[in-house]
Amino acid sequence: MHCSSISRMTASTVAIIGAGAVGAGTAWYLAKHGHQVMLIDPKLDQPINRSGALPGTTASLGVLMGHVFRRSSGRAWRLRQHSMTLWPEWVAELSSQEHPLKLNTPLIQLASSEAEATLMKQLTEQRQHLGLELISPNSNPCMGRSWPNTQHGGLISHQDGYLDPIALQQCLRAALQDQGVQQIQEPVVSLERNSSVEEKQWRLQLAGGTNLNQDAVVICAALGSEALLEQLGHSLPMAPVLGQVLDLEVISDQHNWSGWPAVLVSHGINLIPHGPNQIWIGATLEPGVQPIASHLKAMQHLEGDAPDWLESATVKDQWHGLRARPVERPAPLLEKLEPGLIVATGHYRNGVLLAPASAAWVKEQLTNETRS
Ligand SMILES: Cc1cc2nc3c(=O)[nH]c(=O)nc-3n(C[C@H](O)[C@H](O)[C@H](O)COP(=O)(O)OP(=O)(O)OC[C@H]3O[C@@H](n4cnc5c(N)ncnc54)[C@H](O)[C@@H]3O)c2cc1C
Repeated sequence: MHCSSISRMTASTVAIIGAGAVGAGTAWYLAKHGHQVMLIDPKLDQPINRSGALPGTTASLGVLMGHVFRRSSGRAWRLRQHSMTLWPEWVAELSSQEHPLKLNTPLIQLASSEAEATLMKQLTEQRQHLGLELISPNSNPCMGRSWPNTQHGGLISHQDGYLDPIALQQCLRAALQDQGVQQIQEPVVSLERNSSVEEKQWRLQLAGGTNLNQDAVVICAALGSEALLEQLGHSLPMAPVLGQVLDLEVISDQHNWSGWPAVLVSHGINLIPHGPNQIWIGATLEPGVQPIASHLKAMQHLEGDAPDWLESATVKDQWHGLRARPVERPAPLLEKLEPGLIVATGHYRNGVLLAPASAAWVKEQLTNETRS
């Protein structure tokens, strides 16, 4: 077993399975609030870089679309609002000289039709206090490279934007060390209820054969969650939805990114400049686990709206990852299934955005458990 020593613990212990944005963020948040936390994921000792097939968080673009969400009530809206309140605090606490982390704003969403423009107008009227403003048709800063698809206008959200998921994971790994979170680099292969009252409630078996006894378990294993839950008689099915991303290099010309927001969204596709002549474009939404070339092509052409500078860009890198979409249930799956068995997974398209609110929700469940 590769881990910093596993000792017999007498205090209340919590194991978190899965160390993506949700699991690692929750581990850090719980440890910060005094819980004795163990984080388990075979990927914990691997370097975090992007190429080929990746875990959800590493593949992600880290776009935070909290305030532009279309609905204004319900759980999904409340979680987004909570996360958008927590993110500035998380960034301030996690960022360091060695691992800087920044919330890059604003985000501009372009309307693809008159109907969408009307919806955006209503949204900006209701959410001025959250930093939303209307962008009139055909406005283009013209200082740098032209935006695609401006004929219907759009909206600017001054507090939405993106944060780099690679930097986020590096910050979290450093913060987990600082908080003394035990990290175990192995997959959990089974999860069982302990029958003896003298033992801790849950027994986790690792691939190497080691058993770990824990008071509480939080499952944050995205598509890996379903198999662990099935063993306990819980059915929370999730379907994979693949996303492809391109890192493009634009032909060097007299133009630059001045006048561009941190994130420009056109036809639901994110365009994120990240260096001179460099831009990320993503992500596709593809059912299943195999990338499909035609989806990638359609994305690069922005459904036929791509300006010349984008059409002529060359592909420097590309990667893809899987999102976990709950079947017949809204994302995310935040559920306490039994005493000491918590699920925080199935975040589908918004796991980075919703990581802080999910962590806070888990903390609340554990606090309620201690009280009852
Ligand atoms: C291309 C793409 C772009 C995206 N863009 C955005 C975006 O802009 N903004 C946004 O908010 N979201 C975005 N998402 C969605 C986001 O990436 C996910 O919702 C989020 O990463 C989910 O985080 P997670 O921690 O739940 O899962 P993951 O990051 O998938 O991590 C799950 C972890 O669980 C581990 N695991 C699985 N099984 C086991 C086991 N048995 N034992 C131990 N460990 C296990 C895995 O090794 C993995 O590390 C995007 C996703 C993709 C694919």
